[in-house]
Amino acid sequence: RPLVGNLIGEDHANYVLMYNMLTGIRIAVSRCQAKIKRPLTEQDFTARHKYSFDIVGNELTPSARYDFKFKDYAPWVFRELREDHFSLDPADYLLSLTSKYILSELTSPGKSGSFFYFSRDYRFIIKTIRHAEHKFLLRVLPQYWEHVKANPHTLLSRFYGLHRVKLPRGQKIHFVIMNNLFPPHKDIHESYDLKGSTVGRIVPPAKLEQNPRAVQKDLNWIDSNRVLELGPEKRALLTEQLRRDSEMLRDLGVMDYSLLVGLHWGNRGNRENVRGSTLRVFEPSVPPIRRKTTQTKDGRSPEAIAMRRIMRASDPHQLGTTLDLPDSPPSSMQTQPHPTQDRDHFLFYQDEGGLQATDESNEEMDVIYYLGIIDILTPYGGLKKCEHFWKGLSADRHKISPVPPSEYADRFFGFMKAIMRGGEGGSRFKAE
Ligand code: ATP
Ligand code: CA
Ligand code: CA
Repeated sequence: RPLVGNLIGEDHANYVLMYNMLTGIRIAVSRCQAKIKRPLTEQDFTARHKYSFDIVGNELTPSARYDFKFKDYAPWVFRELREDHFSLDPADYLLSLTSKYILSELTSPGKSGSFFYFSRDYRFIIKTIRHAEHKFLLRVLPQYWEHVKANPHTLLSRFYGLHRVKLPRGQKIHFVIMNNLFPPHKDIHESYDLKGSTVGRIVPPAKLEQNPRAVQKDLNWIDSNRVLELGPEKRALLTEQLRRDSEMLRDLGVMDYSLLVGLHWGNRGNRENVRGSTLRVFEPSVPPIRRKTTQTKDGRSPEAIAMRRIMRASDPHQLGTTLDLPDSPPSSMQTQPHPTQDRDHFLFYQDEGGLQATDESNEEMDVIYYLGIIDILTPYGGLKKCEHFWKGLSADRHKISPVPPSEYADRFFGFMKAIMRGGEGGSRFKAE
């Protein structure tokens, strides 16, 4: 699946959904943000805030274009995650997502039927999830939060928010907001979705020829003899974090997750920048590269200050019945000194938003890796057990993708160790 999205215009089938999602986020998040920060309580993990939007508006919600309901789950928990653990600037977050209603949709959603949307600056991904995944995330939120607190350098998906839109006919759409592992300003020349399973885990060469940017799988990695080039220190650190994260996922009882790996070669540059050109289509005047930014004394850009003002204004006590953003909202591309600054103090995301390859003597090599563990909300339940049984009839029961969580975690971790330099390679994982 190419990581390039289609811009959602007013004529797009999902325009209303996008509008409702972004309006809901804008109001709900700023509502929470307008209050004074306080320590989390147990109730915060089960809290849900409801909003009802319509074209008239009321004292709680400004008028909106469409009628819909919006639910914000555990807002205080996600606020703390964003601010204290994922080091996002609150104003920046809202700006990126909602300063203009622009999202792009990934062209071909995966088997699961989820939809993926990029924020217009490409930093955030909105993923629609199934009700079961939604319930699961809420259930394990305390453990997830504990894990993130104890593991500031975790590779697990960063969840920034969990919400639901309900349309007038009763249809409910659950979605999460998470980090885009791939950077806005660097071209990803090759990418892999790795599970440690090798049965059927291949994108056929013919398909790759058609689309060289397709996300490849385990067997493609093995067959092209790829290696994660990391010097001894980085290797040790990454291995340790992968160990902790996969133990966590084992304890949660999930499986089917992947290590997503994107590679950027410095010498191949950004010339074939598919994403870049798409972004340029969105915003003709703002190329997706590092930009100088005008900042005020306290280091905040004028845009961030404007957003703060808007956030304050959405405090119900200060708000009239309508709230609309200024006609020409600030351009969020300019708010950041550089596009991946929020990642700077995370071990595995600090080199241009990723992890620079190094050789055995820690000299830099000309590749940056962008990696993280994604799709972590699938418990080993009825459906996956069934799949385990049926796929196991025609192939090695231990090499197929659906296996019980502890076996999955061991195999996943083993595979990732194997594909680092000095490891034994991934071939052992191959089906005969
Ligand atoms: P399935 O269950 O069929 O695997 P899914 O709908 O649950 O699919 P994911 O596995 O979460 O989807 O993601 C599908 C693809 O989307 C990934 O292989 C990757 O290319 C891209 N993707 C997902 N999450 C991210 C992320 N956080 N950053 C960058 N790309 C991502
Ligand atoms: Ca997946
Ligand atoms: Ca999935």
